Amino acid sequence: MEMLAFAIFGLIIGSFLNVLILREGSEQSILGRSSCPSCGRLLLWFELVPVLSFLVLRGKCRTCKSRISLQYITVEILTAVLFVLVGGAGLGALETALGLGIVSLFIAICVYDIYHTLIPDAWSYLAAFLSLLYALSISDASLVWILSSGPLVALPLFAMWLISKGRWMGLGDAKLALSLGWLLGLAQGMFALLGAFILGSIVSIFILLPLQTILERAKGIGITVLNPHDRRFTMQSEVPFGPFLIASCLFLWFLHVYGYDPAMYLFGF
Ligand SMILES: [Zn+2]
Repeated sequence: MEMLAFAIFGLIIGSFLNVLILREGSEQSILGRSSCPSCGRLLLWFELVPVLSFLVLRGKCRTCKSRISLQYITVEILTAVLFVLVGGAGLGALETALGLGIVSLFIAICVYDIYHTLIPDAWSYLAAFLSLLYALSISDASLVWILSSGPLVALPLFAMWLISKGRWMGLGDAKLALSLGWLLGLAQGMFALLGAFILGSIVSIFILLPLQTILERAKGIGITVLNPHDRRFTMQSEVPFGPFLIASCLFLWFLHVYGYDPAMYLFGF
């Protein structure tokens, strides 16, 4: 029953995150009514119900029949799933609230980074701040140790940004890594960085680089994708790193709060 409440709350927040992601960096305020991005018609209340409206409308706008982006339903369901995971972890009330805030910001950062290869500063700073509060509330280490774990985990990415003048790593990724250090602590945070690099390389080599080839092959056997030239990934192109940092961080954090510590088994810390 309680889990159902977390799921529904997650769907509502997910729906809000969709609006936040779309309107960030645009003139539109996050408080205005939502409209169809294609024909501009204002949406009615039943068209704003998370997931259900997408299913009822069969993924199309009622007036202009243009397809509703899969982003909406994906973000809503993902938020609901992560909220249930946070809610079911048996954390205290404060840690649960902080956890919900952090995963919400992580989802927004992840999707925004995929679209723009850019992480809004306000979002990563807020996530870092909530992660620091989380660290202060759960850790019994000394204050200096707690405070330094965020910057220390961000340091390798900051150094990469500095040395490469932003070509290998964005400064936004270093700012995001503050959250990893405070949410996971120094050792696990470093482990999460390593995980993000491994995950990033695997995905780049096996999915993003061959993407163009896969799409052309698909066309050859009669499958066409709406706009295959939307994004091309090459060795030179900028692959967003934020999603890998976040995936790696959340994977380790959930393992930890559910009582499994992979780093402990592998390296003894
Ligand atoms: Zn429309």
